[in-house]
Amino acid sequence: MKFETLHRIVLGVLLIAALLSAFHFIPGLLVIGLVLGYMGFLLFVSTNVQLNFFLRAFNNNPEETERRIALTFDDGPVENTLKILEVLEKYKVEASFFCIGKNVKENPEIFNLIIKKGHFVGNHTYSHTRKMGFLSTNAMLQEIKKCDKIFKKVGGITPGTFRPPFGIINPQVRGALEISGHKVIGWNLRSYDAVINSEELVVKRVLENVKPGDVILFHDNKENTVEILEQLLLFLRANHFDPVRVDELFNIDAYT
Ligand SMILES: [Zn+2]
Repeated sequence: MKFETLHRIVLGVLLIAALLSAFHFIPGLLVIGLVLGYMGFLLFVSTNVQLNFFLRAFNNNPEETERRIALTFDDGPVENTLKILEVLEKYKVEASFFCIGKNVKENPEIFNLIIKKGHFVGNHTYSHTRKMGFLSTNAMLQEIKKCDKIFKKVGGITPGTFRPPFGIINPQVRGALEISGHKVIGWNLRSYDAVINSEELVVKRVLENVKPGDVILFHDNKENTVEILEQLLLFLRANHFDPVRVDELFNIDAYT
């Protein structure tokens, strides 16, 4: 069933429930509970790209047989990205960076260095606004297009993939992506490097959960991530994991 159809049915049911409660056939609290429950459901499905609720994203490759995984870094390029690049170079590993347009504009040399070192870059919107979940389809499309434009101007490439900030996919984001044509790259293993302060805990979390075909989410604008990455790469090497770019893991085109 299409989401819009489901949405209309639920709104109809809620309206009937509200009328029934107005005439005291059912308690008002039940209606409030139903409304809050549905709002909670909408919040849950629109902030978890892994659910593939509004569209199909590339979150991981469960069919992977060669122990390949993808390390992905969001929210750069910033000064700290240089340290991440150094660690990746030390271990001779290629990774994927989902860059924010305005950061590319501020740090064009770092953006070009990411590409020069053989890493993958994808669209992560122009502004990464906290209001992402409330943008109209058109405003979202502008966010994506403006980011594409700066990639082209600075690096001479047009990204074919998009990673939603905060993992938000709602009908507006889906609408924008249907027009822009970007493939969506999600993740299935979140390192929580932006949330958990203890490097030890983040490393432990990833080590205990990583399996072939996984896409791991990190943030290259977090200082802790440098040390986390170094420890993780040591473990991955010892356990014969093979970190590759997302376009290789999913066999898709990086750029258009
Ligand atoms: Zn982000």
